[in-house]
Amino acid sequence: MSFLSNLRGVGAAVVIALALCAVALAQSGVPGFDPSRMDKTCKPCDDFYKFANGTWLAKNPVPAAYPRWGSFDLLADNNITALRQILEDAAKNSAARTGSNEQMIGAYYASCMNEAKIEAEGIKPLLPEFARIEQIKDLSDMQSQVARMHQQDIPTLFRFISSPDAKNSAYVIGYAGQGGLSLPNRDYYTKTDEKSQQLRIEFVKHVARMLELLGDAPAQAAAGAQTVLAIQTKLAEASMTPVELRDPLATYNKMELGQLKELTPNISWEAYFAGVGAPKSTAVVVRQPNFFKSLNQNLTVVPLSDWKTYLRWHLITSAAPRLSAKFVDENFNFYGKTLSGTKELRPRWKRCVAATDNALGEVLGQVYVAKHFTPASKARMQRMVNNLIAAFRERLSKLDWMGDETRKQAIMKLEAFKYKIGYPEKWKDYTGLEVNRESYITNSLRAASFEVNRELNKIGKPVDRTEWGMTPPTVNAYYSSVYNEIAFPAGILQFPFFNPAADDAINYGAIGGVIGHEITHGFDDRGSQSDAEGNLRMWWTAEDRKKFEDRAQCVVDQFGGYEVEKGLNMTGKLVLGESIADLGGLTVAYDAFQKSMEAKPRPANIDGFTPEQRFFLGWAQVWATAYTPQAARLQALNGPHPISRFRANGPLSNMSAFAPAFGCKEGDPMVRTAKDRCQIW
Ligand SMILES: [Zn+2]
Repeated sequence: MSFLSNLRGVGAAVVIALALCAVALAQSGVPGFDPSRMDKTCKPCDDFYKFANGTWLAKNPVPAAYPRWGSFDLLADNNITALRQILEDAAKNSAARTGSNEQMIGAYYASCMNEAKIEAEGIKPLLPEFARIEQIKDLSDMQSQVARMHQQDIPTLFRFISSPDAKNSAYVIGYAGQGGLSLPNRDYYTKTDEKSQQLRIEFVKHVARMLELLGDAPAQAAAGAQTVLAIQTKLAEASMTPVELRDPLATYNKMELGQLKELTPNISWEAYFAGVGAPKSTAVVVRQPNFFKSLNQNLTVVPLSDWKTYLRWHLITSAAPRLSAKFVDENFNFYGKTLSGTKELRPRWKRCVAATDNALGEVLGQVYVAKHFTPASKARMQRMVNNLIAAFRERLSKLDWMGDETRKQAIMKLEAFKYKIGYPEKWKDYTGLEVNRESYITNSLRAASFEVNRELNKIGKPVDRTEWGMTPPTVNAYYSSVYNEIAFPAGILQFPFFNPAADDAINYGAIGGVIGHEITHGFDDRGSQSDAEGNLRMWWTAEDRKKFEDRAQCVVDQFGGYEVEKGLNMTGKLVLGESIADLGGLTVAYDAFQKSMEAKPRPANIDGFTPEQRFFLGWAQVWATAYTPQAARLQALNGPHPISRFRANGPLSNMSAFAPAFGCKEGDPMVRTAKDRCQIW
């Protein structure tokens, strides 16, 4: 999972169909838990995160090529090394049959690694695309070009994707949403504090330098950059904030084609659908009607020549990481250095491994799981997931604040949960995709176009529930509300995080907490608004919903009180879903852990720690992470995950089991008073 490409996705305001949740890994090479990573001079009741990880953190500053460094990044890096071996071997075999898995991943990786060819080629493969932009004569031409760019997954102007219909989850529908920005979200354009203003100045300089690299004279490039900022500011002003985007009902506005035309008379939707390659359909979900209303006006207000500059910029900024060094470096200067505080580029091979996973994830994934995933891991994981679901069910049945009517619905939803572990039963078909060793950018545009085609062709058809939202090597996990399912890719189910050799206490605190986290997403501020079938439907009584919201407000206030840097706190409402998931997930993992010890002799202490203490240490070590100041700021402003140290300590300070495990007292920093303690699930 590339931090940068993730960021760019957010910048383009992707319509997110799946809740992506960063989870983390224990330190490589250490079975279970290594006490040498602790800082025992720090009291567990003062700052448990530091107590559990202090020495490791002191010894592991952020490496120059990363915006942050933690257990999670460490394992992702190990996975990249494993994938490199697969790709180097495939690239060496130039006799592989065309269209075979080995040929495709080998050729893709080889084309990315061939720097001499990439330098020699420059922007030549993109020249026809720039020429098309230059030849735009009217709004209709301009919209054809937008469709053409979307067809190649080049973000611009707005987003159009396919996704299960959130109110009819058995069928796929088209979603049109806000987009067209190059900074992470709309606030970056509208805020007037000094840091925001300074960042916009840097952004404009960056756009100008990129336009100069395309051959514009300095004055022309500077003017072009101002044009880009002006257009994006208009789009930003009509866009929803990150907090507003969390509202599943406000972002669901199903419209018949006639209504859509009425909303946006200046957009020719039939021509757009034909251009982007979407099947004809009678209805679309419009995520932000106000955005499209404003876009419709701007289409005629902004001069055509300015739109052409805007499209040129989007084409080059999207392609830059895949072009010659001068484009790669300038792109990194802004998105890597300025925005994320990363000091240097990752080595080329790491970027090429990530790019191959991104383009051909389920081809590479097949080879990866054959080498690195065992049926035994899957079986053990299945048992853990079942135990966690059982523990959640028991909690639901005993929850004192919830009435029986809502409880019945909640249990129905939980019973309907599906889970996926490791990799897809049915792999994606890549027949017809041409990958060769000739041109990296051309390979990547063809692969992107192939995927867009695959996705948009689902519109109007029944949902295929075997599909995955992440590739097998990904170190992550997710919950999807429309599928009502949780998924754990093979990448995360490995030593040392998912560790058959470690004691149960560590495993329940680490992977157990992650499983609980994903289950709880089905019952967080957003997930709780969908039912057992994955449809947006209020299944709560009004009284119980009010109680849920009061309890959620406790979490909003708690996390809103955490300071990231002077003058900048976490935004409680932005991180609410993740924080509810952490709190509920760890609580239910603790229940499951207690249950696992029933009717057995009590496990012995290890390294002087009781099983309960090891459970909490298992959780805290998952979150050991150092950030550059810029990366911490970016995460705070963009959400939805709290900074790691708050994820470690926040839930513990609410859990009644934590204080007795370490002998903490009321009034200690790690113990919230009974009055302030948050508890939902
Ligand atoms: Zn999550």
